Amino acid sequence: MNQLQAAQNIMKELNEQGHEVLIVGGYVRDHLMGKVGSDIDLATSAKPEEVQGIFKRTILTGLKHGTVTVVEGKYQFEITTYRTESSYQDKRHPDEVKYVLQFEEDVRRRDFTMNALGMTLDGHIIDHVGGIQDINDCMIRTVGQAEQRFNEDALRMLRAFRFMSQLGFQLDDDVIQAIKEEGNLIQHISIERILVELEKMIAYDALKAFQLMIETGFLHYLGFFSKGIELMVKKSYVPNNFKEFLTICTLETSIESLDGLPIANYIKKDIHIASEMVSIGIVDFNSILLFRNGLELCLMVNRLNHHLNGLPLKQEKIQSDYESLPIKKLCDLKFKGDHIIDLYQDKKPGAWIGDILDDVCLQVLLGELENEIVNIRQYVLKNH
Ligand code: ATP
Ligand code: MG
Repeated sequence: MNQLQAAQNIMKELNEQGHEVLIVGGYVRDHLMGKVGSDIDLATSAKPEEVQGIFKRTILTGLKHGTVTVVEGKYQFEITTYRTESSYQDKRHPDEVKYVLQFEEDVRRRDFTMNALGMTLDGHIIDHVGGIQDINDCMIRTVGQAEQRFNEDALRMLRAFRFMSQLGFQLDDDVIQAIKEEGNLIQHISIERILVELEKMIAYDALKAFQLMIETGFLHYLGFFSKGIELMVKKSYVPNNFKEFLTICTLETSIESLDGLPIANYIKKDIHIASEMVSIGIVDFNSILLFRNGLELCLMVNRLNHHLNGLPLKQEKIQSDYESLPIKKLCDLKFKGDHIIDLYQDKKPGAWIGDILDDVCLQVLLGELENEIVNIRQYVLKNH
């Protein structure tokens, strides 16, 4: 059973119980563009309690928003009840959510026409807003008046830029105009929601979208990211991995600003090291640097130093140097802590073992010592 078949099973069940149900959102858009792979979201006329009553395996994900997650085989589907939203005082959460029975009413709350399509069980497309035409024209248009829709939820502006990169579409003139007027509202949006969109965005070629962010003045309000993105446009270089993107933003602001973001600590740690190495302008990556920081990070530092600071690009050299390292991890050493304990049976195990291993590791990396138990034992006896 694939994802689509699993969704169809759920749709059949809802239909049999007398409810309308449609595939909505990105899946339908991508399907019309001949692409596959996005998650399938479902929308239905059934109330959340009814959906819960019909399916055995459900998870209450967002009952407040009318969403129930249904598990079918190894797949999970979010099923959202048709609803309307009204008056967003805080520009990001609707004050009132009301369930409705018609999909035509539900589409009014959706962001863009290309995202407001529905697909029935038999593959028929339902389009109340001209979304098919806009997909054919490669145009991003809001459902309803752009200014009002961005006023309700300012994240939609960033989503417009994200879809521009992801799909290679253009923003409609009204969308551009509204972004010029309402761009400052992005400051009301939580950093978590912004990170989600930016991460999706830079998985694609985001240069044009970033350029347009500058032209519309939107970039000015993007806080931590503004200066980094400005530099990327200036240098015509946008990385397509998020860590590299964040490193550029850090270089253009500060480590402290990075530390304030809700990002996993191990990623922050890599960014700290990388931005330091870029600042120093490291050109040659010796075996110690390669061993300590790993291949991925060294390649990234070299790319950044090349694209931002004009230093030579040495990706292949770094790659081959890394491959010829005698050891890539501490545990690749053939001589282990146990061997040391055997050598010094009268000594109590402690931090000194780690010190010896560090030294051995260094000697092996420098090519002074072969990674063989016999050689290393001799070396340790002589030097420690
Ligand atoms: P993809 O899955 O490729 O990221 P998507 O269109 O499915 O794209 P999601 O973020 O998964 O995007 O959202 C699913 C659907 O929910 C959208 O297609 C859109 O109809 C609606 N939607 C999501 N976020 C908003 C929003 N901020 N305002 C209005 N509608 C939204
Ligand atoms: Mg989606």
